[in-house]
Amino acid sequence: MAAFLIDGKEIAGSVKAGARQGAEECLKKGGRSPALAVILVGEDPASQIYVKNKAKACEACGITSLEYRLPADTDESEVLALIERLNKNDTVDGILCQLPLPAHVSEKRVTNAISPDKDVDGFHPVNVGRLYTGEDCFVPCTPAGILRILYEAGVDLTGKRAAVIGRSNIVGKPVAALLLQKNATVTVCHSKTPDVGAVTREADVVVAAVGRSKFLKADMVKPGAVVIDVGINRGPDGKLSGDVDFDAVREVAGAITPVPGGVGPMTIAMLMENTVKACRRHLKLG
Ligand code: NAP
Repeated sequence: MAAFLIDGKEIAGSVKAGARQGAEECLKKGGRSPALAVILVGEDPASQIYVKNKAKACEACGITSLEYRLPADTDESEVLALIERLNKNDTVDGILCQLPLPAHVSEKRVTNAISPDKDVDGFHPVNVGRLYTGEDCFVPCTPAGILRILYEAGVDLTGKRAAVIGRSNIVGKPVAALLLQKNATVTVCHSKTPDVGAVTREADVVVAAVGRSKFLKADMVKPGAVVIDVGINRGPDGKLSGDVDFDAVREVAGAITPVPGGVGPMTIAMLMENTVKACRRHLKLG
């Protein structure tokens, strides 16, 4: 029997509806709507689309979107000065700088310059540390979206074996930390793992965040496992594919997320939720 298809678009819709409600409450009880500042340095086409989609989601959720588009040759000091101004502006709740940045601007210095209280991407080391110690923090949006998908799909992680393929700071590592918090037994695979299939075949939940089209094959998946595909790979024909060999794995897995329409829509939805959370904190709405 083909796996249950998890509809990320629908779950993202309900997360955004919740964010909209939260934004309305901020306006009613705190006197202003949440505001998200997005900085884009340069003209990377994919980044431009992401920034446009974030602005559209803000509009749908009643969040004020502030866009700062800077030319590709902007000095790092100018980017840092803008972040400093936004940090000090009490009407700005969330700040994010769209990655990747031009080579002469340090991602690390830019990320570290954003106030942890406005770091709605959850990339600042203070939020990373809080995540690992189980404190309240801004959780990076894609990993947060993955956990929400698992929750909404009714997957109880306690005592389950989870395999994460990929150890990036934005997906693999935080998702592993979150799965651990939910009492799963977690193994993280990476490019030096000799036999990824041997690990994933033991797993009740597999999260594929590799960045390689159709990497996870059907013979690497335990029958009935839950498979979450984070990958976004664009082929030469412009068609999107995930990190999972979807058609074949669907015949083995118990539940699976598609690409597109799985994890993708959750990332922006969680960004909206994080921005409302930041605003509620700033307005002291509890
Ligand atoms: P990344 O930084 O390139 O990390 C990829 C990870 O995969 C690395 O840890 C790498 O190992 C590992 N890897 C590469 N080849 C491997 C192999 N043959 N066997 C086992 N592990 C291997 O990518 P990322 O930023 O985490 O993103 C992963 C994918 O998710 C990409 O397709 C990206 O486009 C997508 N993504 C989607 C969203 C969304 O909103 N849906 C958000 C972010 C990313 P090493 O560490 O050893 O190099």
